[in-house]
This record gives sequence, C-alpha cells and structure tokens, in this order.
Amino acid sequence: MEYIDCRQCEQHMNSFIDNKLVGENLWQFLTHVEQCSECFEELEIRYLIAEAIGRFENGESINLRNELYKKIRMSKKAMYFHYFNEDVRRILKIISLIIIVYELFGFTSLFFGIAF
Ligand SMILES: [Zn+2]
Repeated sequence: MEYIDCRQCEQHMNSFIDNKLVGENLWQFLTHVEQCSECFEELEIRYLIAEAIGRFENGESINLRNELYKKIRMSKKAMYFHYFNEDVRRILKIISLIIIVYELFGFTSLFFGIAF
C-alpha cells in the first residue's frame, strides 16, 4: 500500500466529501489526513463549507464538526472491514454489520430529527 503526498491528498478531498472515495484511494486518503494536520484542516474547512451551504439552503443548523468526525469514523469502519484477512473477517462480519447498521440508524434518525 503506497502513501500519498499532500497534493494527491488534496485531489481526493472533494471525492471524500461526496462519498465517492473507495478502496485503496480511501485508505490512502484517511491515512494521510490522520497524520497530516495541514490536510486535515483543509478537509475540515472544505467539509464545513460544502455542508454549510447545503444546510443554509435548508435552514438547518447543526454541529458539522461532529458530523465530519463521524464520517471519518464510519469510513474507517467500512475500510477496515475490507482489509481484515478472511478468517478474522468472517468472525467480525456480523459484528461489523451490527455496528454499521446501528450507526446508520443513529445517523438517519439524527438527520430526520433535524430535517422534520
Ligand atoms: Zn498533507
């Protein structure tokens, strides 16, 4: 697995915000932003701007920073799921699914709680 530099990281940022980053690209991206405070700040700013525009149009106000952390956590969970070896993966598959479903339900109810 290769590491990416700040320039490559920046190229992935908008894809990550749009939920279009997957697989190895996602791994490289998350690994970089975890270790590079400059890129994390850049991501934070871009995410807040992108989300704030959408929320502003809908008249919503919410703690976006927490949502970004949640997005990163959920992406990591989904990512680790892919990189476990087969044996461990089989055992953790059910557990991971439960966690993911739980998070999705939590996220959905949070979203609808605000939207309606
Ligand atoms: Zn960087």
